[in-house]
Amino acid sequence: MEKIYIKKINKEIEIDSWSETNKVALEVISKFLIKSNLSYSIINSNIDENGFWIDFLVKKNISENSLPLLEGKIKKEFSKDIKVNSKLPTTIIKKLKLRGVSGLTLKNDSIGNRIFGFATIDEIQFKSKLLEIEEREQRDHRKIGKELDLFYIDELSGKGLPIWLENGVILKKQIKDYIWKQEEKYGSSQIETPVLGSIDLYKTSGHYEHYNENMFPEMKIEKNETFILRPMACPHHVLIYRRKPRSFRDLPIRFAENVKQYRYEHSGSLIGLERVRAMELTDSHIFLREDQLKNELKKGFNLIQETLTKFNIEIDYIELALYDPNNLDKYHGDEKLWKKSQKILKEFLNEQKIKYVSMEGEAAFYGPKIDVQIKTALGHQITVSTIQVDFLLPEKFNLEYIDSNKEKIRTIMLHRGLIGTYERFISVLLEQTKGDLPMWLAPQQAIILPVNNKAHLNYAKKVFEELKKSGVRVKLDDSDERLSNKIRKHQQTKIKTQIILGDNEMKNKTVSFRYYGQEETKTLSIKDIIKIYKTE
Ligand code: ZN
Repeated sequence: MEKIYIKKINKEIEIDSWSETNKVALEVISKFLIKSNLSYSIINSNIDENGFWIDFLVKKNISENSLPLLEGKIKKEFSKDIKVNSKLPTTIIKKLKLRGVSGLTLKNDSIGNRIFGFATIDEIQFKSKLLEIEEREQRDHRKIGKELDLFYIDELSGKGLPIWLENGVILKKQIKDYIWKQEEKYGSSQIETPVLGSIDLYKTSGHYEHYNENMFPEMKIEKNETFILRPMACPHHVLIYRRKPRSFRDLPIRFAENVKQYRYEHSGSLIGLERVRAMELTDSHIFLREDQLKNELKKGFNLIQETLTKFNIEIDYIELALYDPNNLDKYHGDEKLWKKSQKILKEFLNEQKIKYVSMEGEAAFYGPKIDVQIKTALGHQITVSTIQVDFLLPEKFNLEYIDSNKEKIRTIMLHRGLIGTYERFISVLLEQTKGDLPMWLAPQQAIILPVNNKAHLNYAKKVFEELKKSGVRVKLDDSDERLSNKIRKHQQTKIKTQIILGDNEMKNKTVSFRYYGQEETKTLSIKDIIKIYKTE
């Protein structure tokens, strides 16, 4: 627990000196661009974990080839301009790397360029940063998403609204099928509710009061009829519980749904699939008695662990998200309920010997959470799985059950997301695997490449049909391109295996194939290769 804090603090210090150095570099470069007449106006600039970028107007586009020369000229400016650094006066920029230049899309006729790069104070930091940045870029899910042709975002359709392509839908479906198997094993029953809810539903639940800034504006459609595009499905599930009397014997009742939901995020904070405005998740709500709580938490948490293990997800740490007693506006105001629910989660984590970090002010407005935290390629901390205990919504919606003495007792509610939203989870999967997904998740498992169309296409078609019939996700490249070009092309799209068919394969009725990123070629019968696709 302590260790994680120390790690975090060190990271912050490192980021500070990094951003300070790059801020200085940015100032010097901006001045130089104007002074040397390369630009007549700076549009925008910023510092991030990859260094700096700067957008400026140009008379003529700057070419990639001219960057080393430019870099050399700017370096000279650094030695003249050491004093510019006010905050870290001892810092002298030793190394500068201009990593690239790109064109900007501007509304009027002017031409704009972006230059990006980074600066460091010594050689050792320079080498390690360069490696780190290249590694991060390779892992960036937005880049991998393009390579694998999974999704894209079209501003005409709307910012923060990913459009899923064929490969993306296949990947999503593979994950979803597994999640539903887990939900069924757990005893969840599947329900479906609408993406719109009446405003009164969200006024009753408290979302209207406490979650408003994450919601899209309301839609008035008729007199006295106003709708909300739902930010979450909990209130709908509560209604299903409430629609008939429940006995103590019926509990726990577990609902799960493939929820599509919408949250308002500022356009500036949107990031690929990591931060979006439209999302999908398999969301579960469990209605139960107090004596069932610990057992259900345990089952839920075990299920989360089992699920993340199946996907080989690397967990950064477990967070216990608590309310903030000094900022009660953000939360429901019943402190007695907060203390009770938080105590339950703490006890549970301690009993199970689960290491965790407590974070005040991170709870949902209705209750505390156990969040599974992951670190993204861009260095952001994000939550994937979550399990939350809620005494509030049952209070607001008057949820109850009849106990053995025929008395009405208040029901308790758990919210649980096994992997969070599919958008976020896929971004994590892509980053952690660098797009080299395991066979069972790979959108395309095989590409068949005949060595020579004239001689081998018929055999290739036959192999294709057999694989296809067995449910292998396979494509056939019958284009007239050279074999070496085809191999290179499909290497870039990270298709899991390349099957190459020539004279020997045709004669022996075999296939030769190799895995993405590997040099070794294996030869097998068609039957045996199908086994690989089915079991790996
Ligand atoms: Zn919920």
